[in-house]
Amino acid sequence: AEEAMRRSEKLAIAGRLASSIAHEINTPLEAVTNALYLLRNNPSLDVQAQDWVALAQTELERVGEITQQTLRFHRQSSIATDIEVTEMLRSVLLLHTAKLRSAKVQTELRLEEQALLFGYAGELRQLFANLVGNAIDAMPQGGRLFIRARTMRHNDRRGVRVTIADEGMGMSNAVRRRIFEPFFTTKDASGTGLGLWVSAEILEKHHGDMLVRSRQAKYRGDASGTVFSLFFPWDGVPRGPRIVQSSAQVLADH
Ligand code: ADP
Repeated sequence: AEEAMRRSEKLAIAGRLASSIAHEINTPLEAVTNALYLLRNNPSLDVQAQDWVALAQTELERVGEITQQTLRFHRQSSIATDIEVTEMLRSVLLLHTAKLRSAKVQTELRLEEQALLFGYAGELRQLFANLVGNAIDAMPQGGRLFIRARTMRHNDRRGVRVTIADEGMGMSNAVRRRIFEPFFTTKDASGTGLGLWVSAEILEKHHGDMLVRSRQAKYRGDASGTVFSLFFPWDGVPRGPRIVQSSAQVLADH
């Protein structure tokens, strides 16, 4: 329990740090955005220079989106709410539409409608986005991505199980043992090695558990792939309003 506490504290500190950086970046970002706007509308600028300014504006918009997302993520994570998990998973897939299409990845969904999760929406979305992103990365030659969500009982607790499985290249036992370490990555330039580390912290904050199975092909044509199976207990995150209610009740009783 002490270890879990330290981990969620670390996550909170990382969140605060990210959001204060995002905040600091916002001000100069606005100044540059305004300057580029004026420059682009300057009639003495030739056509090619205008194109470059337009490019700079587009890229700057992306930076703006990232900082906005970071700020929103941190704000959202401060209160736990009921979340329709199927809706969240669909929106994560929507986010990855371009990546899914370019990798020729087919999605196969088995989602129980109205299955509810209780937790921090921004963080849970990030967790699912990390797992889906990794699954797509594992299938550069295409394949199927299976996503399943259903309510169930696990270790005497009720909650929601979410399974994300791919038909990708899989991983060796040596890799599988290290995937939750910060900065561990097998992707050279494109990887940060932070995705699963952060994901494990988010899961832990929700008192969930996760099972990872992976299989590499031994010879050509052999089946390979990875399964991440997550369980979120309904009583994992304390419900704020309920505590307030019960203390009011206690007061009324005495
Ligand atoms: P990153 O994606 O930036 O490398 P992660 O922490 O998300 O960082 O993942 C760490 C490593 O775990 C990846 O580099 C990869 O080797 C392995 N991994 C994660 N998910 C999968 C998957 N679905 N299939 C195969 N390998 C995976």
